[in-house]
Amino acid sequence: MEYRRLGSAGIKVSTLSLGSWVTYGKQVDVDAAAASLAAAYGAGVNFFDNAESYAQGASESIMGAALRKLRWRRGSYLVSTKIYWGLAEGPNEKNTLNRKRLLEGIDGSLERLSLDYVDLLFCHRPDPETTVEEVVWAMSDIVASGRAMYWGTSEWSADQIREAWDIADRRNLRKPQMEQPQYNLLHRDKVEVEFARLYDGIGLGLTTWSPLASGVLSGKYAAGIPEGSRLSLSGYEWLRDDPELPRKVAAAKRLEPIARDLGATPAQLAIAWCARNPRVSTVITGASRPEQVTENLKALDLVPMLDAGVLKAIDEATSFP
Ligand code: NDP
Repeated sequence: MEYRRLGSAGIKVSTLSLGSWVTYGKQVDVDAAAASLAAAYGAGVNFFDNAESYAQGASESIMGAALRKLRWRRGSYLVSTKIYWGLAEGPNEKNTLNRKRLLEGIDGSLERLSLDYVDLLFCHRPDPETTVEEVVWAMSDIVASGRAMYWGTSEWSADQIREAWDIADRRNLRKPQMEQPQYNLLHRDKVEVEFARLYDGIGLGLTTWSPLASGVLSGKYAAGIPEGSRLSLSGYEWLRDDPELPRKVAAAKRLEPIARDLGATPAQLAIAWCARNPRVSTVITGASRPEQVTENLKALDLVPMLDAGVLKAIDEATSFP
């Protein structure tokens, strides 16, 4: 495994990491989660991503129980969580980053995870109704209290991240260290264009999500929707009903011969393509079983093979007509 600094932070994250969205609570129980976590950790993965909203808190509870079972040294791994959508109805508890919600939210997450602190804490989305100043104070207070090591954002704009960083700089508060954006062959601009000024400008690190575009780039949907796959699950009709899905599936099919020529699978090629960007600190992968973890982690071996010719072929395969 290779480890990269989280932007300008001293902490290092494995270039490939593992997240729990959709799978924990919906597809896997504690034992199955522990099996995937163990497969990843055994291969050198040191970062595991979560959020309070995943399966309404159950994802954190499952990861917490799996970590208790695995009994790893706390210093040897990093765990994240994210707050925004909330777990209850009400004006102060849903879709908000107000101070009360953030401070209560982190306590709930730590209880479900059975941890004393998370390593990375994200504002899961921007909140147009809470000032960035209030959010920065609350996140900075959480870090100062020791309940999170670093804080950052997810799917914020470059301007919003810069505003938060400037406020923290002016007021001598803890600065946002990382952003969690979607990044894959079919979704590139935010990471490659919009955020370009932030990498050297404020030392922003990236923990990117959905390298397979929810599994589509593995090519598994070429002949329909396999039973038990993410697109077959109830609650995820929005993925299945995506009007762009047929074009995404066709693009994945065009990746197959390129991957085959490199002795790889399309999933490995898609993940390697994300990891080849040095601005990406860690590519958060997802897996519903340990075999996928093992297949996906081999993607790192492919990165040196992505020369100009291969990258051109990938671009042609994934640009929509
Ligand atoms: P991917 O796009 O890589 O999709 C992962 C899913 O694809 C797996 O659960 C599995 O689903 C399928 N899959 C994985 N590997 C293979 C393979 N080798 N062959 C065939 N199918 C495969 O990642 P995710 O969308 O899961 O995102 C990764 C993580 O990023 C999440 O767990 C979460 O932690 C984070 N995230 C953050 C978001 C944010 O807003 N900050 C939003 C979304 C994700 P199945 O077997 O069920 O078909």
